[in-house]
Amino acid sequence: MKKQNVLIIGAGVAGMEASQLLTEAGHKVYLVEKESLIGGQTIKFEEVYPNMECSTCMVSPKQQEILQNENIELLLLSEVKEVNGTAGEFKVKVKKKASYVSLANCIGCGACYEPCPVSLDNNFEEGLSKMKAIAVPCAGALPNVPAIDAENCLHLNGKKKECQACKEACMFDAIDFSEKDETLDLEVSAIIVATGFDMLDLKKLSQYGYNQKDNVYTALEFERLYAENGPTEGKLILRDGETPKTIGIIHCAGREEQGYCSAVCCMYSTKFSHFLKHKVPEAKIKEFHSDLCIPGKSHQKFYQEALKKEIEFIRCRNIQDISVEKKNGSLQVNYQNGNIEKNTFKANMIIVAPAMLPGKDTKNLAETLGLSLDEKGFFATKSNELSPIATDVEGIFVAGCAEGPKDIPDSIAQAEAAVGKVVNLSQGKINE
Ligand SMILES: Cc1cc2nc3c(=O)[nH]c(=O)nc-3n(C[C@H](O)[C@H](O)[C@H](O)COP(=O)(O)OP(=O)(O)OC[C@H]3O[C@@H](n4cnc5c(N)ncnc54)[C@H](O)[C@@H]3O)c2cc1C
Repeated sequence: MKKQNVLIIGAGVAGMEASQLLTEAGHKVYLVEKESLIGGQTIKFEEVYPNMECSTCMVSPKQQEILQNENIELLLLSEVKEVNGTAGEFKVKVKKKASYVSLANCIGCGACYEPCPVSLDNNFEEGLSKMKAIAVPCAGALPNVPAIDAENCLHLNGKKKECQACKEACMFDAIDFSEKDETLDLEVSAIIVATGFDMLDLKKLSQYGYNQKDNVYTALEFERLYAENGPTEGKLILRDGETPKTIGIIHCAGREEQGYCSAVCCMYSTKFSHFLKHKVPEAKIKEFHSDLCIPGKSHQKFYQEALKKEIEFIRCRNIQDISVEKKNGSLQVNYQNGNIEKNTFKANMIIVAPAMLPGKDTKNLAETLGLSLDEKGFFATKSNELSPIATDVEGIFVAGCAEGPKDIPDSIAQAEAAVGKVVNLSQGKINE
């Protein structure tokens, strides 16, 4: 078998799995990631269902392997801009943004963060904390090397050219303001798209009263609030300084508008109840849902264990009947229990699980790659039943949440299947 070059777009769990397997099969991988760190959404979680496994412990060996594997060329801060050719001989242009920090010189000591005078919302932390224009977004991020946000750096955007605070603080000569963006030309025989998902902006659904001021949290905000490497170092401190005592968890926000089930929110909402009961055993928790999606051989047990902890699951007639309001200074969930009873629940914390959406760049990337999208805006595959990872372009495959919402094991399974297809292709077999 001839050694092939393969392009993988997105370094979440799906992209990392595919990269590692392809190198084990003797191929070379270009792994293109638009952020300055790898691991995707999974590195935001403290633990993962159904076994409450430590997410960082599970993912960091994979991240380390990616960073150390000499057959993986990791291109951070990079995006695919042009693709020409056909299976076996794609020609790809990748734009790689300058990070202004040398991967070779930086030891990740963090001495450059503190003197930086710029303070920005930390998007990785869902805006729950601030970060400097030079920093890694959370402790334990890999690679543990910061990048400079060129738009906000006073030296690079020209607002205060003389500012070189980070450079002066660095004892290892790792800051290089002269670094330039690059365009790389790659030749690859196959492409795997593993660009993951984004979340629906809860501000678009007025029924939940989400304003980032009260104690209404999105699912990802809660993941970061709970995480030991998050903004409160895992201490459950609400926006008003209180501890959560009465908690309403609302499933499926935006499901009706999007027209599909996000597949994982019933399970991760149940995970949240387990988390909360672990930290605040006396907490009173109600989960509001319409359909409860607990599939798979190990998931029922996870749900049954939640029931044993006296977590109340309330089946509502319709997800749109659930709303949140602030009454006399406290939060309240309004809901219709079953078909008849209108009810309310006073809570000092509300967590809402918004729909998982196609990644923001999906449409542009699909145009660049010549791929179609399905009716929900995810990358389309030839046939969901018999060919769930082959796209309509021979030699291009899709894996993980780029194809639609799914959990980590299913994302990994698709990545492994995509690798099988690429290996077949390298042996002259067609994309079927
Ligand atoms: C709140 C929440 C909790 C969850 N909890 C669990 C759980 O406990 N257990 C479980 O099994 N599943 C859970 N999931 C599901 C899990 O997050 C996904 O299954 C998993 O993240 C999918 O991995 P992925 O690699 O497909 O995508 P992602 O994790 O989204 O990674 C995609 C990567 O691609 C990069 N990228 C995107 N666009 C581009 C581009 N144009 N160019 C280059 N790079 C790009 C991104 O920066 C990212 O690094 C949860 C989901 C949510 C929302």
